[in-house]
Amino acid sequence: MKDENMPDFIDEGSPEETHAFIQWKGTDVCMDFHCECGAHNHFDGYFAYTVKCQHCGAVWEMPHYLKPRKADQRTYEYWRENPQKLEPDEDHCDAEGSALPVPNGVRETGG
Ligand SMILES: [Zn+2]
Repeated sequence: MKDENMPDFIDEGSPEETHAFIQWKGTDVCMDFHCECGAHNHFDGYFAYTVKCQHCGAVWEMPHYLKPRKADQRTYEYWRENPQKLEPDEDHCDAEGSALPVPNGVRETGG
């Protein structure tokens, strides 16, 4: 649940392009963070809405908008042999576990 006082999420994306909108909750993250002051910080934790530089004290908001990269010939075989993928949420599947239809039909991706 969103905290009433939490600032609006930064969503710089367009619904027309492949993207992922993420919330930094309950996800075990390991992050190397390089601050503009030159410091290299390392964080491990379950919530990463913001990080605070341990050197200069600046607080940085983490982006919620990611542009995934489609697996290509170079990487596809690796991920096929080493599957580390998220499973879809049950609210986004039908009773058999298959993906729900795309609201406006599947777009041609050219790939
Ligand atoms: Zn810093």
